Amino acid sequence: MQDFRLMVNRGIRYALENDLTAKGSMVKFGQSLAKEYHVNGAHAQTAMGVALSLAKGHRRRLSKGKKSKVPYVFRPFLRADDVTFHITPETGLVRLSLRYGEWTSFHVRLSTYHLEFIDRGRVKQLVLNDKRAVFIVEKEVPERYMPTSILALDTNERSLDGVSLTSEYALPVSVPYPDVSVVQHRHFVRRRKLAKKKSKDRRVWRKLAAKEGRREHNRVSQRLHLISEGLVEFALNEQAAIALEDLSLPKGGGGGRRMRRRLSSWPQHEVHRQIECKAEERGVPIIKVDPRYTSKTCPRCGDIKRRSRVGQVFECAKCGWRLDRQINAGLNICRTALAQLPREAEMRGLGGLRLDPDALANDAMILLYAPGNAGAHEVSGGQRAQGEEMSRNGLL
Ligand SMILES: [Zn+2]
Repeated sequence: MQDFRLMVNRGIRYALENDLTAKGSMVKFGQSLAKEYHVNGAHAQTAMGVALSLAKGHRRRLSKGKKSKVPYVFRPFLRADDVTFHITPETGLVRLSLRYGEWTSFHVRLSTYHLEFIDRGRVKQLVLNDKRAVFIVEKEVPERYMPTSILALDTNERSLDGVSLTSEYALPVSVPYPDVSVVQHRHFVRRRKLAKKKSKDRRVWRKLAAKEGRREHNRVSQRLHLISEGLVEFALNEQAAIALEDLSLPKGGGGGRRMRRRLSSWPQHEVHRQIECKAEERGVPIIKVDPRYTSKTCPRCGDIKRRSRVGQVFECAKCGWRLDRQINAGLNICRTALAQLPREAEMRGLGGLRLDPDALANDAMILLYAPGNAGAHEVSGGQRAQGEEMSRNGLL
């Protein structure tokens, strides 16, 4: 690991001095290093790869006018390609090649969860440092299916709302997560209390506040995991595409400071991130929609209500259309998603769908997730949340 660290550092300097960016141009230098340090050539080449990416980050920072020191790795570590090591899942034995004819081996403890993971994919890389071993597993992502229906959702503070549109019906749907904001509020209050109590000792306060933050983060993300899981499951059963607002685009219409803070709040981005990640794993297509005017447009006549705020119920001044504000926004997301379809070939299955707001069955709202379950699943949910976090990174 010490040698690997040194090789990376020398690689960085070599790349910067000679202005190299391509892997091919580093091969020779890697070979000479392998000889010098007397290690497996594959390790030296991986080190050159790491060096290049670090050098690249450095150049990018410089070109943006930011301050940047030439990167230097202080902690010993090793990144190994799959040709240089072998893992036996049954025993957890890892054999790692050091140099020609010389191997080292060590044991790792593997849980059933880990084994499942190794079983499903191919172990691609091993990253070692003085504390842990991380295996990077390549997972096959299923191809996205041709959707035959669409699940369009507007993202709100306490719920995702919208419509599920198939060739036979259009139903309003809602995925409530009221307890998320309750949890957030509770932690907010606690943090403020802490700040008062420990105001004399900044160090202690900062430590405790950070702990509170982590706990809040975990509790919220675990709840969101249950929600996103259920949602993607539903989409899969219906062979639906999921349409969401593109949160990276400005929502438009300005809005006050409070509004912007609400929109930038973490859970909404987090729930989108989770949905997208899980959708990709299961081959559920996702459609991202420009969020502008989704809350102010009449889905029936297309009239855009500018300026005035929309109340809990959306009302069209032109045609008299009335609908719950959040469901209405979801309906507009659905409309926009259908309109932008031709751009994505694999979504053409949706081409046959027609959105007729009047056909929306107003009385039959389906709840895709019953919030009452959250408490009961708290423990298992927590474990699951952790697992998902790992699978997102493709790490073990
Ligand atoms: Zn209208």
